[in-house]
Amino acid sequence: MESNVRKTVVIGSGCSGLTAALYTARANLKPLVLEGHEPGGQLSLTTLVENFPGFPEGIQGPDLVENMRKQAERFGAEYLMGDLISADLCDYPFRLQLAGKGAILAESLIIASGASARWLGLPNEQALIGHGVSSCATCDGFFFSGKEIAVIGGGDSAMEEATFLTRFATKVTVIHRRDDFRASKIMLDRARANPKIEFLTDTVVDDVYDVKQNEVTGLRLRNTRNGNSWDFPVSALFLGIGHIPNARMFEGQLHMDADGYLITEKNVFTKVPGVFACGDVQDRRYRQAITAAGTGCMAALEAEKFLEGRGE
Ligand code: NAP
Repeated sequence: MESNVRKTVVIGSGCSGLTAALYTARANLKPLVLEGHEPGGQLSLTTLVENFPGFPEGIQGPDLVENMRKQAERFGAEYLMGDLISADLCDYPFRLQLAGKGAILAESLIIASGASARWLGLPNEQALIGHGVSSCATCDGFFFSGKEIAVIGGGDSAMEEATFLTRFATKVTVIHRRDDFRASKIMLDRARANPKIEFLTDTVVDDVYDVKQNEVTGLRLRNTRNGNSWDFPVSALFLGIGHIPNARMFEGQLHMDADGYLITEKNVFTKVPGVFACGDVQDRRYRQAITAAGTGCMAALEAEKFLEGRGE
């Protein structure tokens, strides 16, 4: 792998990365896609996607991303499982160090590493991940059939998770720190109309129990208006509170905003010629599958132009 120089390397295999892979593959750049620790990105963790154009009945997120993967593969994209631990963008070709798999050199680089689920940072949260604390309803909801569940957040993710979890749970309580919701009207209305979903607003979670029993038995809640605290029994805690961009490996080399999102110009240009960023790692505003795909396409076209300009 040490001497492996690739024309284009795509970091990330979500909607954005796979679109970039499709376009660069069709430009005969034989892209190598580094799949990362969440292959398929956020689409692979979601259920029905109803707003990706072309699917009048909607499509399951994992099916959509799998279709994209196969489509790019058909034109020559290659995939490699592996975590990028560091990147040297000062030298050219760019040097990408993978955990346990040596280094890859890239003549153009498309960063589509997306964003990962945010956690609350509760004292007992990490110890109970996989034991009732989860950020993925589609992955873990099944385990809580016939139980009562809490979902944290007031955005579309929280509404989507809550609605999905009513397939299994007897009751789902959406707990939100304000009484105003970021969620789109259609998703909020759908959750509100679901008889299994209740809402607790102006409420925060101070901790989750019970590490000793190795399972979630309840939450410590607090009303933000009057400061009152109380115990709230539930069997699972699902987080739907947004995401953190996966860009730490580029710290000090590329411009980032205060939350770690990559800052791009003209949609996909980073400050390093030949390095482009697309999808959720650089988009804190739209964060839709279709916009991620759109910027993935732009990054691919710009990578192609960059290589052409170098006569490659
Ligand atoms: P989001 O819109 O940023 O919402 C995050 C929610 O979590 C907000 O309500 C926020 O509260 C809350 N939150 C954040 N940190 C918190 C903390 N530490 N403690 C308590 N609450 C906290 O994120 P999202 O719901 O993941 O959605 C992201 C994007 O994806 C949006 O553009 C959304 O439309 C899209 N999306 C679409 C679909 C769909 O169409 N099927 C599904 C999921 C997501 P505040 O409001 O008080 O800040």
